[in-house]
Amino acid sequence: MKTYIVIGLGRFGAEVARKLCELGCEVLAMDIRSDLVNQVANDVTHAVTGNAQDKEVLRALGASNFDCAIIAIGEDLAASVLIAMNLKELGVPYVVCKAHDEIHRRVMKKLGVDRVVIPENEVAGKLARSLSSHNVLDYIELSEEYGILEVPAPGNWVGKTILELNVRAKLGVNIIAVKNDTKTNVSPSANYRIAEGDIMVVLGDNKALEAVQKL
Ligand code: ATP
Repeated sequence: MKTYIVIGLGRFGAEVARKLCELGCEVLAMDIRSDLVNQVANDVTHAVTGNAQDKEVLRALGASNFDCAIIAIGEDLAASVLIAMNLKELGVPYVVCKAHDEIHRRVMKKLGVDRVVIPENEVAGKLARSLSSHNVLDYIELSEEYGILEVPAPGNWVGKTILELNVRAKLGVNIIAVKNDTKTNVSPSANYRIAEGDIMVVLGDNKALEAVQKL
């Protein structure tokens, strides 16, 4: 079972901590405010009140034994930086940080934080993408460059096999799944023939995905 330490129990941190636990992970949730700690205490494996800016506090909690740490402090850049440094120095293998803005993101990247998320940007990007095109059902950002798009099969794909479409060579994307009313066909074979009503799940860089949207 994977183990996580979530530092900062605002709306974002508390939600991440609860969700990880629901997914069967072991979660230590931590905040400097005991009222917030109490609010999540029944939903996570352990909940502690403490100041993560203090490296000795993190050491005493055995932070280095966790597989992953999530720093969910948006507003206080200094606290977020110090905690990231502490976690890296203690040798936590994978550190994720919520950032408030682009400057915060760049600072965390420089410190060697493994993954930085700006939740508002991610959600805004996803919403804009789905609103800008009537046919986008979902978009999942994998990195700044790559994503996964869910679109109804374009009209001229219907009746053709994946091999015939040759989208990897022609458009630079991969069809990773095909969904219809009854099932999801993950990693469909090259001989799969696309049917009316199929939903295509396509992986590629954002430029290529935009081309798919316009088909
Ligand atoms: P939200 O997720 O609600 O939008 P936010 O990202 O704005 O919140 P903040 O309010 O900046 O987050 O802080 C998140 C939490 O981090 C707060 O509950 C705060 O008490 C906690 N926190 C701040 N500094 C520390 C620290 N040094 N150690 C532990 N927890 C801290």
